[in-house]
Amino acid sequence: MNKDVAPSTACRPVRRRIAVLGSTGSIGTNTLDVVAHLSDRLEIVGLSAHSRIDLLLEQTALFRPRFVCLTDPDQELDNHRLPLGTELLRGPEGLARMVTAPEVDVVVTAIVGAAGLEGTWAALEAGKTVAVANKETLVMAGPLVTDLARRRGGRLLPVDSEHSAIFQALQGSSLNEVERLVLTGSGGPFRGKSRQQLESVSIEQALRHPTWSMGRKITIDSATLMNKALEVIEARWLFEMPAERIEVIIHPESIIHSFVEFRDGAILAQLSPPDMRLPIQYALTYPERLPGPTRRLDWRSLSKWHFEQPDLETFPALQLGFEVAQRGGTCGAVLNAANEVAVRAFLDGELAFLDIPRACRAALDHHHYQARPTLAELASIDRWARQEVCRWISRTTRIVPST
Ligand code: NAD
Ligand code: MG
Repeated sequence: MNKDVAPSTACRPVRRRIAVLGSTGSIGTNTLDVVAHLSDRLEIVGLSAHSRIDLLLEQTALFRPRFVCLTDPDQELDNHRLPLGTELLRGPEGLARMVTAPEVDVVVTAIVGAAGLEGTWAALEAGKTVAVANKETLVMAGPLVTDLARRRGGRLLPVDSEHSAIFQALQGSSLNEVERLVLTGSGGPFRGKSRQQLESVSIEQALRHPTWSMGRKITIDSATLMNKALEVIEARWLFEMPAERIEVIIHPESIIHSFVEFRDGAILAQLSPPDMRLPIQYALTYPERLPGPTRRLDWRSLSKWHFEQPDLETFPALQLGFEVAQRGGTCGAVLNAANEVAVRAFLDGELAFLDIPRACRAALDHHHYQARPTLAELASIDRWARQEVCRWISRTTRIVPST
């Protein structure tokens, strides 16, 4: 046969096989949307969820993965409701089995909170590529996670829009040519408000994000600017950039997703309408760019973009992020755990909005700092910080506005 006219199947690209941890959440469902649009290049082989089991079953019927994992021990799922060929796994062991399976090329970590660490760790130990949405993992244990990826030949690809923007702007350059990373942030629903106005915000107001539709925890983090704080720490470890060379600028339109300033003075940025499917797709198809499902920027309707400096007095959570990025050690695990408990308490109506950063500040101030903690020590300080915030909440006289 003439080699020049080989059958078309010979050059068909191999489909990348993906496991999505937290497939029923905001990032999880956006990931499945990307995969559905690129089904000739991407394939789902594993799904995990903690809640919304009916949605998990719908996703399983549609994508027919090799594995499905239920992480909440209190949830029931009848094996008979799964398609033929899909194996039901449970708990942390099930999750580890799924992410380390030879059938998996890329693991998307779309679990919320510290619960995301285990799956990420198992995947990296097996040398997998991890598309990291779960920023809490890097906040808690950044140096250990990046070191594990290096040692095992795994790879961390950012999904968070700011970090994806930086990663995209860095293509073709090396990190030692970078002067500064500038993360953009929308400013959240309370941009321009005074501290006094924030004394009485309700849960509903805090959940109303102006530009992004996301899970509840990250939406509250965006309202306090803790999300930006966590992103400063995420950037610190992901790009090995000293905290002094990371900055934040408020850009309410959420079109410019971050900047990289190089040492020759050039600044590169990545722009697109606010839609997480773009950074998710880039992580899944990297280094290729493929047509995707997201809306384009309408150049004809563009007029102005705005920028302002973050108000650190009204949003002290952001200051905590810079401080923790600078100190490292156990600080990230303490800040993350304290924030998780405080956000939960706010959403349960037990804590006022402005108490969230106060509780985090108190936990950071009282913790026993270690510069180079092990994973076990981080787990223990995480438990301590959760208890400490519970104690702080029970001691604090609070006025919680009714919703
Ligand atoms: P979400 O609340 O919408 O979804 C969370 C998912 O994790 C669900 O599938 C849920 O079942 C699962 N889950 C919850 N608790 C779990 C546990 N204890 N163990 C295992 N699984 C559990 O959250 P989200 O908005 O999709 O965010 C997910 C992660 O991505 C977070 O770390 C967030 O900071 C990050 N992120 C989200 C966005 C966004 O646009 N939503 C953007 C950037 C980064
Ligand atoms: Mg982000």
